[in-house]
Amino acid sequence: MFKGLSERIGSTLDRVKGRGRLSEDNIKETLREVRMALLEADVALPVVKEFISQVRARAVGQEVLKSLTPGQALVKVVNDELVRIMGENREPLNFRGRPPVVILLAGLQGAGKTTSAAKLARHLMEAEKKKVALVSTDVRRPAAIEQLETLSGEIGAGFYRAAEGTAPKKIADQAMDFARKQHADVLIVDTAGRLHIDEELMQEVQDIHAAVEPLETLFVVDAMTGQDAARSAAAFGEALPLTGVILTKADGDARGGAALSVRQVTGKPIKFMGVGEKTDALEPFHPDRVASRILGMGDVLSLVDEVQSKVDKEKADKLGRKLKKGKGFSLNDFRDQLEQMQNMGGVGALLDKLPGAGKLPPGAASQFDDRTISRQVAIINSMTKEERRKPAVINGSRKRRIAQGSGVQVQDVNKLLKQFTQAQKMMRKMGKKGGMKKMMRGLQ
Ligand code: GDP
Repeated sequence: MFKGLSERIGSTLDRVKGRGRLSEDNIKETLREVRMALLEADVALPVVKEFISQVRARAVGQEVLKSLTPGQALVKVVNDELVRIMGENREPLNFRGRPPVVILLAGLQGAGKTTSAAKLARHLMEAEKKKVALVSTDVRRPAAIEQLETLSGEIGAGFYRAAEGTAPKKIADQAMDFARKQHADVLIVDTAGRLHIDEELMQEVQDIHAAVEPLETLFVVDAMTGQDAARSAAAFGEALPLTGVILTKADGDARGGAALSVRQVTGKPIKFMGVGEKTDALEPFHPDRVASRILGMGDVLSLVDEVQSKVDKEKADKLGRKLKKGKGFSLNDFRDQLEQMQNMGGVGALLDKLPGAGKLPPGAASQFDDRTISRQVAIINSMTKEERRKPAVINGSRKRRIAQGSGVQVQDVNKLLKQFTQAQKMMRKMGKKGGMKKMMRGLQ
């Protein structure tokens, strides 16, 4: 998603980014292009109008024209405004109620409700450690019920199957009893979809809503439908007290209009984004991260999350304590770090998400690929304990032995030792008080 929008807004802003001076004419021209880009991405017209007028008000005011770096300041205003129309902060799910807390999913057929029900269950089980039960009330499509039952089995969630011929509202009632008996924290209720919004469908969903009193009523909508997504969300919003939206198929080539319009048009936050067909392809929706993705600044925060989830925290803490005590950074520590990098799929896999990563020369990432890291680890493994503790003892003949042991050339051993010395220097700086802060400043 956002590819076209990101490219267009990116190139428009690139032209003004470095400018030390901006005139009202420059700003007018830039805003005209941003407006075109938003319209082409199928953002709802009232949202585009509001967006442009807010940016304009701030852009011709003190904030941008009088700023020392007007180009950058304009980019920041556009960024802030993107974040604002998507709802500022991440909106978590509400669990403040007596368990089982109910999450009701509604939406049109094919939007991805059933898949999202399973994804959400998996997310709640893994990230929130909740016990989850699922039920489908889509009696007109037995295949949909079966699909959810299969997915529930796959992820290990409870599933309530009602006797054939049970009415949807009754199924929901029975599922509540089932979830209570199972001591489930959460019951996710999937409802029937139709190709179009109709009276009967709305009545059915309203009845189910009244029966289970959900804490969350989420509208599931396909991102590919653009600003229509916001329109159908608004229609459902009139019939049901929606608490949020799940935007599906955000992995496809949707132009982004749905993500940018839903909040403004309906007043409801997007809480999750579906990014694939599998049950693990669900991401919490963070407006600020999505905005930086659109502006081509890379998704640095998601990257940080990913790194944090994969880094061995215990080892990292141990190293931190060691450095604080002023103890040296050894080749063993270096090996640990290399191995952690490998766990993350190599630096190459992470580079994609970094700002400006698209601009790296081809092959740059391969310097950090899996094979290189494995070779470095093998070199360290061929050293004796003493050599790892005190690399200074590694003379020519030892280097030859290490190279032979790990199947590399002596120059590879030299290269590794040099990299280690550099890492050691950096660690020394970080270990000093305030060193980390200084280093981060240096990187900005
Ligand atoms: P329902 O009719 O609303 O229950 O929709 P389904 O859950 O059956 O989904 C319809 C189709 O969309 C299926 O083929 C799903 O695999 C697909 N789908 C659902 N969510 C996503 C998503 O986030 N990304 C992609 N690529 N496909 C999705």
